[in-house]
Amino acid sequence: MLRNDMLEQWDRENFFHPSTHLGQFARGEAPQRVIKTATGCHIEDRDGTKLLDAFAGLYCVNVGYGRTDIADAIADQARELAYYHSYVGHGTEASITLAKMVLDRAPDHMSKVYFGMSGSDANETNIKLVWYYNNILGRPEKKKIISRWRGYHGSGLMTGSLTGLELFHKKFDLPLTQVIHTEAPYYYRRNDVSMTEEQFVAHCAAELEALIEREGADTIAAFIGEPVLGTGGIVPPPAGYWEAIQPILQKHDILLIADEVVTGFGRLGSMFGSLHYDLKPDLITIAKGLTSAYAPLSGSIVSDKMWKVLEQGTDENGPIGHGWTYSAHPIGAAAGVANLKLIDELNLVQAAGENGAYFQAALRNALSEHANVGEIRGEGMMAAIEFVADRDSRTFFDASEKVGPSVAAALLEQGVIGRAMPQGDILGFAPPFCLTQAEADEVAEKTAKAVAKVLG
Ligand code: PMP
Repeated sequence: MLRNDMLEQWDRENFFHPSTHLGQFARGEAPQRVIKTATGCHIEDRDGTKLLDAFAGLYCVNVGYGRTDIADAIADQARELAYYHSYVGHGTEASITLAKMVLDRAPDHMSKVYFGMSGSDANETNIKLVWYYNNILGRPEKKKIISRWRGYHGSGLMTGSLTGLELFHKKFDLPLTQVIHTEAPYYYRRNDVSMTEEQFVAHCAAELEALIEREGADTIAAFIGEPVLGTGGIVPPPAGYWEAIQPILQKHDILLIADEVVTGFGRLGSMFGSLHYDLKPDLITIAKGLTSAYAPLSGSIVSDKMWKVLEQGTDENGPIGHGWTYSAHPIGAAAGVANLKLIDELNLVQAAGENGAYFQAALRNALSEHANVGEIRGEGMMAAIEFVADRDSRTFFDASEKVGPSVAAALLEQGVIGRAMPQGDILGFAPPFCLTQAEADEVAEKTAKAVAKVLG
């Protein structure tokens, strides 16, 4: 086995890490950790440090680490058939079975699933399908995509544009011109304590209507949104939000893309966020929970309405000019089949709802009295704590004070991983669904200690 110091040196010299301070890392000034193994909700690094991972990797290891059923399915698939493509009608038992399993779980009006590798590429596929759809319908001008500020949809050229966080645009010449952003459904951050939640929802709807009128409905193809905002702050929508937004989209013939990369396959305590909030999307983006990250696989679930038009397009123009070498990769598909079976067998969707409710209550018990805890919010196995300088006036800390990152660091010192969300002082949690009550209590207690250390 390679020595740790050797590995760490190779890491600094050769490895371009995503979402990392490049120079600081190369100079050995930024955090570095080499992970070795993991089971349940715990990961272990090469130094033997064990950490309770209350963010399930990047909210993706939904069934927990070390599931041998999934590992065995991957190994069996690799031995039998490591790869074949899925172009011109080719498939494998795993990819065909998984497509059926996904459709069996998706809302009734969904018709087919296209498989990719990552959430970003699945959203790229979705935007291409939307454009293809409108071209077939003879509406070449109807192409713009509305996304929300603080939405997260990936970090490609188009998907990074859809993402409504400054960090992902800055110095990359993004967003692209076809993307327009509207108000985030983030009531707590609305810096106006006099507005009721109901008024705020009406305001979001009015902002959307105004944007559509300004740009012209005949130039707007689709609206993309996560059922619960994820990377933008872990924010469940205010009551009535989706009920207010959907009719506006329908009125203007604007397609709805539900980005369920985080919420798909149980994280909210329902199989899909679309079922949880009664959405009727035209496309659903899936990734993380599809395989619980045991292998990279994503998907775009297409509605009946869109499918009929796409079919017509290929009847007129030949095969669809879209595909990846690794679409429906058999190893990813085998991981997906084993993962979805495990979720059923262990009743993990229900567990996410119940364990999530326990976890959120534990956080509230431990932290809600603290003067700098402005809001504790969540849905199912997604939770966040937002810190404020003053609770009554809802005054936020200046970003330069790094309150969120400092609390996350103080928590990590005690062996628990939470995530300082990239914009605002927000500590996010999204544990594996199998989080025990003892683990939930541990996260809550240690978070309270971390908050006390940083904020007194
Ligand atoms: N959509 C959402 C809602 C996400 O949270 C993410 C990733 N965090 C993506 C898309 C992009 O997925 P990936 O990182 O696999 O490209």
